[in-house]
Amino acid sequence: MKVFKFGGASVNSADRIKQLATILHLYPHDKKVVVISAMGKTTNALEKVAEAFYNNRKEEALELFEHIKKQHLNTAKYLLVTSANETDARLSHLFTEVEWTLHDEPARDFDYYYDQIVCIGELLSTTIISAYLNEKGIHNKWLDVRDVFRTDDHFRNAGIDWAVTGKNIREKVVPVFDEYEMVITQGFIGATDENESTTLGREGSDYSAAVFGNLLNAEQVIIWKDVAGIMNADPKIFPSAVVMHELNYDEIIEMAYYGAQVVHPKTIKPLENKAIPLFVKCFLDPLLPGTVIQHNAIKTPPPVIIIKNNQALLHLHSKDFSFIEGSAISHLYHLLAEKHITANLIQTGAVILMVCTDDKEDKVNRLAEAASAIFDVQVEKQLSLLTIRHYTPEIVAEMTEGKSIVLQQQSSQTVQFLLR
Ligand code: ASP
Ligand code: MG
Repeated sequence: MKVFKFGGASVNSADRIKQLATILHLYPHDKKVVVISAMGKTTNALEKVAEAFYNNRKEEALELFEHIKKQHLNTAKYLLVTSANETDARLSHLFTEVEWTLHDEPARDFDYYYDQIVCIGELLSTTIISAYLNEKGIHNKWLDVRDVFRTDDHFRNAGIDWAVTGKNIREKVVPVFDEYEMVITQGFIGATDENESTTLGREGSDYSAAVFGNLLNAEQVIIWKDVAGIMNADPKIFPSAVVMHELNYDEIIEMAYYGAQVVHPKTIKPLENKAIPLFVKCFLDPLLPGTVIQHNAIKTPPPVIIIKNNQALLHLHSKDFSFIEGSAISHLYHLLAEKHITANLIQTGAVILMVCTDDKEDKVNRLAEAASAIFDVQVEKQLSLLTIRHYTPEIVAEMTEGKSIVLQQQSSQTVQFLLR
């Protein structure tokens, strides 16, 4: 059994959907679960629908949704022949699911409505693709993953109920393979035990593929992307960037932690736990080797360069010149947990604590305000956090030349610079 995942960019046009069929043809003898995202920027467009609806701009929400409907109907019309009518009917059924919501008045919180509306993107894309593949003789069964992925009701960031999901996979997915070679299903979405739709967090389709991989004991998971593999740096910033053909789980989880946008950070654990190799392969050129991530030790990993922009640094100075000790530090960690803020770097001194975090959604200001009860607080914004794994003096010199270094932290594997 193999699990494939195709992201939004891999299915953003009729031509790309045809390319998807070409890729599937390269694996004729494998049983496959194929996890697919919403087409192109559909999720962003659906977010706008949800926002308009929730802010009582019903007309606007319906208009925006109308546009999304047209796009999908056009793609279906372009791709389908014999199953066109039947597929249109199935798409209309899905549209109605959302329109019912849009005609309601919002009575629950935003995140709930977000999930009821946004989940449709994946249902639409997979409906069209499944029909197209069947027409092309790639025999497959479409599956509504909401009947399989049971989650809690933490809308927009739902957690998988592994026990129920595992049972559903054994009862509802495994038997499909008696008759079919392939299941086409959605990434990113699930449902609660009350049949409310949920989403697993933006870019969550990678994670869906990993959950399937884990629970099906897949021999491998392949994520198809529009890049040649995982690179050691962004080639736009670092022209000599190279594809890393082999990585291990430790390295990839470190890279995700430091901010490399390679695969969704939650993807690694389910695969590592069952030693399932993860491949990242090039959608446009499927014969390229790509990257494989598994348990093997990597002998000489190249330097990995990760840059996170839009960083804020909080200087928390003790008010009365008392030492920074356990209670001050634990106070800081409590505040971070309470405000759902991840610290990208923390440094302690005699009378000062320094915390670097992403500057988003007013969170920094709220943290600064709360911290000012205990500390004298200063905030510096618009910094960049440069992380270099497996650094060499030459790379460090090249990357920091002419920059003003605000803070630096170093271990034997990793060096980080906060740059102004
Ligand atoms: N369609 C969702 C998103 O854009 C999930 C995914 O693509 O992984 O975030
Ligand atoms: Mg995506």
